[in-house]
Amino acid sequence: MKLDTPLSQISGIGPSLEWKLKKLNLFTVSDLIYHFPFRYDDFSSIKPANEAQIGEVVTLQGEIWSIKNIYTRYGKILTQAVFNDGTSPINLTWFNQSYLTKQIQVGDRLQISGKLTKYKSKLSIMVPQWEKLDGVKLTHPRGVIGSHRGIHTGRLVPIYPETEGLTSKWVRTKIDQTIPQVIDQIKDPLPDFIISSMLPLHEALFQIHFPKTLDQVEKARERLGFDELFFVSLATQKARMEWKKKAYVATSEVDAEKLNKFIKSLPFELTGAQDRVLKEIISDLKKGEAMNRLVQGEVGSGKTVVATIIIYLVYLNKLKALFMAPTEILAFQHYETVSQLLSPFGITVGIYTGSKKKTTPQAPHMSSGVADVVVGTHALLSKKLSTEDVGLVIIDEQQRFGVQQRTMLRARAKLPHFLTMTATPIPRTVALTLYGDLDLSVIDEMPKGRPIIKTFVVPEEKRADGYKFIEKKIMGGDQAYIITPLIEPSETLSSVKAAKIEFEKLKKIFSSLKLGLMHGRLKSKEKQEVLKDFRGGKIHILVSTSVVEVGMDVPNATIMVIEGAERFGLAQLHQLRGRIGRGTKESFCLLYTSDSSSNESGRLKYLENTFDGLKLAELDLKIRGSGEIFGVKQSGRFEFKIASLSDLGLVEKTKNAAAKLLANNPRLDKHPLLQAKLSEVASDVMPD
Ligand code: ADP
Ligand code: MG
Repeated sequence: MKLDTPLSQISGIGPSLEWKLKKLNLFTVSDLIYHFPFRYDDFSSIKPANEAQIGEVVTLQGEIWSIKNIYTRYGKILTQAVFNDGTSPINLTWFNQSYLTKQIQVGDRLQISGKLTKYKSKLSIMVPQWEKLDGVKLTHPRGVIGSHRGIHTGRLVPIYPETEGLTSKWVRTKIDQTIPQVIDQIKDPLPDFIISSMLPLHEALFQIHFPKTLDQVEKARERLGFDELFFVSLATQKARMEWKKKAYVATSEVDAEKLNKFIKSLPFELTGAQDRVLKEIISDLKKGEAMNRLVQGEVGSGKTVVATIIIYLVYLNKLKALFMAPTEILAFQHYETVSQLLSPFGITVGIYTGSKKKTTPQAPHMSSGVADVVVGTHALLSKKLSTEDVGLVIIDEQQRFGVQQRTMLRARAKLPHFLTMTATPIPRTVALTLYGDLDLSVIDEMPKGRPIIKTFVVPEEKRADGYKFIEKKIMGGDQAYIITPLIEPSETLSSVKAAKIEFEKLKKIFSSLKLGLMHGRLKSKEKQEVLKDFRGGKIHILVSTSVVEVGMDVPNATIMVIEGAERFGLAQLHQLRGRIGRGTKESFCLLYTSDSSSNESGRLKYLENTFDGLKLAELDLKIRGSGEIFGVKQSGRFEFKIASLSDLGLVEKTKNAAAKLLANNPRLDKHPLLQAKLSEVASDVMPD
C-alpha cells in the first residue's frame, strides 16, 4: 500500500463506498489520513463498574449475558443486552440497530464505552460504543483489567465528518488499518529550522488519529494547521518574487501636469483615500516592474474613477488598456463612465462582450485597432483580441475571483501592469496569506455627503408594515430593490424560478406600482432594457436575484429589501446594501428572514449598527468561516481543515517562516520534497 493508492483498491471498498468516499473528497490513502477528526469522545477511563460514578463516562470490559430485539408499539426496534463486567450486571440499549443481535452473541467479550446511568434502579448505558475483545484475557472479578488498545472504545475516540452511510466508526476502522502500513512513507517536507519545536509530520498525522491525551491533539493540530497556511504563504510569496523578475511591457512616465488637468476635469474632488491610493499606484508605475496591485474599496467608494485616471496615464504612454468587468451590465456601466470621462481628451473607448459584438457594431473594437481602451467582460480574453500593446489590465471583480483571468493574461510574453479592484473587504490575515502575491491599497473613505443607510431586521409579523412603508416612499418619488432569496449559490434555474414566483407575488402586493424583474438568465438586451427603465424611473421596484450586478449605480434607489437574509454572509449583505445610499437621500435597508432563532437575528442585528465592511467580514470569518468571504463557489479552495484564517498569530508565523525559507533558498532547490508539495498546493490555491 502506498500513500497514493486509490481507496477503491483497498479490500472491502466497493463501488458504493467509493462513491460515498468521493462525496467527502476522499480518493487515496493519503486523503483518508488527511481526513481529520473534528472532535474526540473521551473514553479513556477504563475501570470496573462498581468503581464508577453514576453519570460518569467510562469504558468497561466484560461479557454479554443476554441480547434480544424488542419491537415497540411505534414501530421502533430496541436492542437490549445484559452485560457483566464481573462487578455488576449492566443493561445496554441501542435504538434501530436490529442487526446487532447478529454481530453480538451471548458469551462475547466486549469493551464498551458510554455514560453510566441508573434506570429503574439498574445500572444502564444507553447506546454504548462497543468492540470485541478478541483474544484478550480478562481477569475477573474485580481484578486488574487489561489495557486492551481499543479503536472505538477505551481511549480518546476521534469523531470524523460523516456522510450518509459512511460512519465515523467505519472511517476509524479504515484509518486504523491503513496508517501503520504507510506511516513510514510519510516524509517531512519541512526542514528542521522551520519545524523547530513542532512535531515531525508523521508524528502529527499519527497523533491526530490516535492521541493519548488532548495535549497530543493540540500538538498535532499545531503542526498540521501550520502546514496548511505555510504552503499558501510560500506559494504566494514565491509568485510575488517571480512576478518581479518577469519582463514587463513598459515603465510608465507620469506627466504630472496633464494628470492634474485631468483630475481637475472630474465632476468632483477626489477623496483623501482616492488620492492616497492613486499615489500608491503611480509609484508602482514608475518602479520599473509590472504593477500587481489590488485596490480594495467598498461599493461606492469610487474605484472606477481611480481606474480611469490610471487608464489616462497609460494612454499618455501610448499604451492601451483593458478594463474587465465581472458581468455584462457592469461592463456597460463602466463603458459609459469611462467614455464620459475620457472622450473629451480624445481617447476612444470600445466595448467587447460576448453578445455586444452583434448588438452594437458601431462600438470600436480593440481588434480593429481603433480603441485606446476596451471595456468588456471576460470575453476580452478571447484570442481574437490583439493585446500586444496593452500596458494596463484592470480587473473589476467585485466579489468574484479573477485568478483564472489573471493567469491567462500573465502567460503573455511581456507583462502589462495589473490593477485588480475588489469590493470584498479583506481582513489583514487574509491579505497576508491568500493575497501575499499582491500589493494592497485600500480606499477606506466614502465620498462626502453619503447618508448612513438605516438598516432594520424585520420580523415576519411586521412584513406588511414594511411593504406599506416601501409604497409610501415610492409615492414620494423613491425607488426600491427587492432581492429574492438565494436558492443556490449560482444563478441556476431554480433561483430564477424562485425570483419569478416572488415577482408575481410582489406585483399583486404593489398593484399600483411598476415592477421589473432582473436575473442572470435574461438576454443581454432584456437586461439593458430593464436597467434603462429602472434608471429612467419607469420601473419603481426592481425585483432581482442577488447574483446580478452588485456594482449597479442608480442614485434615486433608496430602498433595499433582502429576502432570506439568513442565507447571506454579513459582508455580502453589506455589499447588497451598498447599492443604495448612492445619492444624498435618506436610504433604508430592510432585512427579511424566516429564521427567527436568536443566533441568527443576533447576527443580522450587527448590520443595524455596523457600516464597516471590513469589520463585518471579520465577523463572518469568525462566525461562518472563510467560505463567506470568498463566495460559495470559491470556498473549497480556501477552506482549511485546521488552520483558521482569523488567527493572526499563526498567519504571521507561517508568513515569516515562508519568507525565511525563500531568503535562504529562493529557488527551493535544496528542498525537493517541499518543492513537490508546493506545486501541489499552488495549483489549488493559485493556478499560476
Ligand atoms: P465603486 O466602483 O468603488 O463601487 P464608483 O467608482 O462606481 O464606486 O463610484 C460610485 C459613485 O460615486 C459614482 O457615481 C461616482 O461618480 C461617485 N464618486 C466617485 N468618487 C467620488 C468623489 N470623490 N466625490 C463624489 N462622488 C464620487
Ligand atoms: Mg465598481
